[in-house]
Amino acid sequence: MLLTMYIDTITSPEAAWQQEALCAQTGADFFFPEPGSSVREAKRICGMCPIRAACLDHALSNDERFGVWGGLSEKERLELRRASR
Ligand code: SF4
Repeated sequence: MLLTMYIDTITSPEAAWQQEALCAQTGADFFFPEPGSSVREAKRICGMCPIRAACLDHALSNDERFGVWGGLSEKERLELRRASR
């Protein structure tokens, strides 16, 4: 609920991601690794990101299938979606 309120209060989500997302400062390579590669570094960065919760909410709401979003891998987000049904 709080996450949805957060997203609803910003007028341009894309601008907010660019301004606050730590991944925007580090580059996308960590967050979209080759299959079988480690996502540990991406998760470490997400753990310090001020918009982690909103990012995860966005990924789940938009059914983002690839990469690390909000500190969760593709597989972890799929498991979360299945568990919430
Ligand atoms: S939580 Fe992770 S993927 Fe999401 S904006 Fe922050 S650094 Fe990027």
